[in-house]
Amino acid sequence: MNKRKNSRRKPYFGSVRFFRHLILTTIALLILIPTGLAVFFKAENNRLAKERYRLYNENKELRTQADEVKNSKPIPEPEPVQVSSSQYGEILVDASSWELILVNDTHPLSPSFQVDLVEVQPGQSVDERIAGDLEDMLSAAEAEGYHLGIYSAHRDLKRQQSLFNECLRRLQEEGLDYQQAFYESKARVALPGTSEHQTGLVVDIAPKAYFYLDENREETAWLAENSYRFGFIARYPEDKEHITGIRYEPEHFRYVGKTVAKFLVENDLVLEEFYALLQDNGGAEKPE
Ligand code: ZN
Repeated sequence: MNKRKNSRRKPYFGSVRFFRHLILTTIALLILIPTGLAVFFKAENNRLAKERYRLYNENKELRTQADEVKNSKPIPEPEPVQVSSSQYGEILVDASSWELILVNDTHPLSPSFQVDLVEVQPGQSVDERIAGDLEDMLSAAEAEGYHLGIYSAHRDLKRQQSLFNECLRRLQEEGLDYQQAFYESKARVALPGTSEHQTGLVVDIAPKAYFYLDENREETAWLAENSYRFGFIARYPEDKEHITGIRYEPEHFRYVGKTVAKFLVENDLVLEEFYALLQDNGGAEKPE
């Protein structure tokens, strides 16, 4: 009994059982660790494969998009129109440019027309895009000793309406009947909605001292000779009343940009005639 008891009390460490357990544990670990690692790496491998697949698809998608962009036709820019005729020579213009908008009796301004204005003189505003050239023109005149001022620039529909009504009333007071007064007002002031003044591309100019310009003044001659250099044209010349439908207005200057202004002056054309030329060259919409 004692011997057995003694043998049972033998320390576990170093015993046969201990080594047996050690060997079994070692074998178990030798099996479990590689198996665990194998399972782990397999899962990781799967995850990476999935990730790679996702990236591959994403890349493919992006390439398709890039190809689509590359192959799709660009948004067409407005086609420049080559105006050429034996009579007038050649000019390349963008017929849809804001500078070339035609506003007259038969081309009323769209009710949705909008313009960003800038005040160039107290109470007088123009399209901000022409302010620089306008300033240059007035400075150039100043340098020649002509002190010019603007006495009418942008006018909104309401202002145009009241000017027209005022003209109509005055003419009737002077003895014209309504119809006569209406057509005369139309020629002098332009019907509301058909006045260029609503575009912001127009200035009525006069010497500061007179606030009036007629064909006899030196300023008129200077402007007639030089305004085109700054992109402006005398819009309603005396000899073109039958085309413009507006009485001779030596003070009324319209911005059309330097290239077109030069072309118009060189060829003695008004905007209506230029517009007809654009139509002939397929550049402006024909009226329906
Ligand atoms: Zn005017």
